[in-house]
Amino acid sequence: MREILVVGGGPSGLTAATEAALAGAEVTVVEEDKEIGRPDHCAGLVSREGLQKILGGYECVLLSRIRRVRVFSPRGRMYEITTSDEKAAVIDREKFDKELMKRAERAGVEILTGTLYDPSMNFKVIINAEGTKSRVAQSIGLEVPRSIPAAQVDVEVKNFEDDVVEIYTGGWAPGFFAWTVPRRDHLRVGLAAGRGLPKELLNKFMEKNEGFANKLVTRVLRELYGKVVVGGPIKATVKGKAVSVGDAGGFAKPTTGGGVILGCLTAKLAGVAAAGAIKGSSLSEFERRWKALYWRDFERMRLAAKIFRNMREEELERAMAEAYSGGLLDKLAGYDMDLQGSVIAKIARSRLVRYAVLPLLRSLFEE
Ligand SMILES: Cc1cc2nc3c(=O)[nH]c(=O)nc-3n(C[C@H](O)[C@H](O)[C@H](O)COP(=O)(O)OP(=O)(O)OC[C@H]3O[C@@H](n4cnc5c(N)ncnc54)[C@H](O)[C@@H]3O)c2cc1C
Repeated sequence: MREILVVGGGPSGLTAATEAALAGAEVTVVEEDKEIGRPDHCAGLVSREGLQKILGGYECVLLSRIRRVRVFSPRGRMYEITTSDEKAAVIDREKFDKELMKRAERAGVEILTGTLYDPSMNFKVIINAEGTKSRVAQSIGLEVPRSIPAAQVDVEVKNFEDDVVEIYTGGWAPGFFAWTVPRRDHLRVGLAAGRGLPKELLNKFMEKNEGFANKLVTRVLRELYGKVVVGGPIKATVKGKAVSVGDAGGFAKPTTGGGVILGCLTAKLAGVAAAGAIKGSSLSEFERRWKALYWRDFERMRLAAKIFRNMREEELERAMAEAYSGGLLDKLAGYDMDLQGSVIAKIARSRLVRYAVLPLLRSLFEE
């Protein structure tokens, strides 16, 4: 019988596995794909502070350093924010995941690639790190987090800038947004949407959006699809001898769907709790610890995402113009990219809060 079985060799599963092994447990990871880190479905935008916490030295996984963020309003008005320090970076997810795999192996974790989870596998504790697939969660009765579909394409463009991330709001991506992220010499352009088909929406965006069309696409390199987790952590992340981590537990930012950093940070806690459970303590210790550290930020991000989703285009247009003219957009450049609770509180204390009232009322009629 295995002590701890981790299902899924993504960043969260590998991080939880490493922590559990370092705490003295025997750990096996099963990963259905043949190779860790492939296929890659992620835009790879992360905070450098978060990367430092997870990897320490991280130059080997960097693709681009981000110094500017451009936000486009629904009507195409552009606001550019310069980040004074190098706050964010784009990482090569394949290299990042493989680096985590090496660390797991060094800690003594057994990693079985090309191996699908089978309910007949014997274990004392199971860490569900299956991402958005939801098969494990359904088989053991854990809740599945809310996610929406996304499409991305890698493109070469004539007017390439290697240090800018762009966000496009409005009808291009209903209920979410579209993005471009630089990857050393090409762009990853994508969108997720609460309504409509992402691939069709992305084609339309690339053809018709003036801001994007100025980049002049010369070659399409590849298409990628996936699901972005937007509902925040599930109600019960622990059930009996099972615990859900990473995307499977809903540990991605409800505002952006970014789950690499918070997924790994919370997975560390799960790994320690799982090893503790082998020695007789309660697995629920995980839930207690992550809630103490991150609950407030997740709740605020969940609320902010709900307001954004329910804003009409003209409300967003006015709110963005006011945030810009009042200097708030620039101040936001200094915010914590991962734990966004304090910046959300800052917006709530500003005059912008009045733009939240109607969207909040509308959210009462959401499904
Ligand atoms: C379009 C898109 C863009 C994104 N952009 C960003 C971004 O810019 N920044 C950011 O921080 N986050 C981003 N994310 C989110 C990020 O990719 C996830 O939060 C992160 O990958 C979650 O890691 P994980 O280990 O929980 O799950 P995953 O990385 O999904 O890993 C789960 C693993 O489990 C395996 N698996 C599943 N079921 C089984 C099974 N039954 N048996 C064995 N193995 C199984 C899968 O093959 C997979 O390898 C993006 C997501 C998408 C879809």
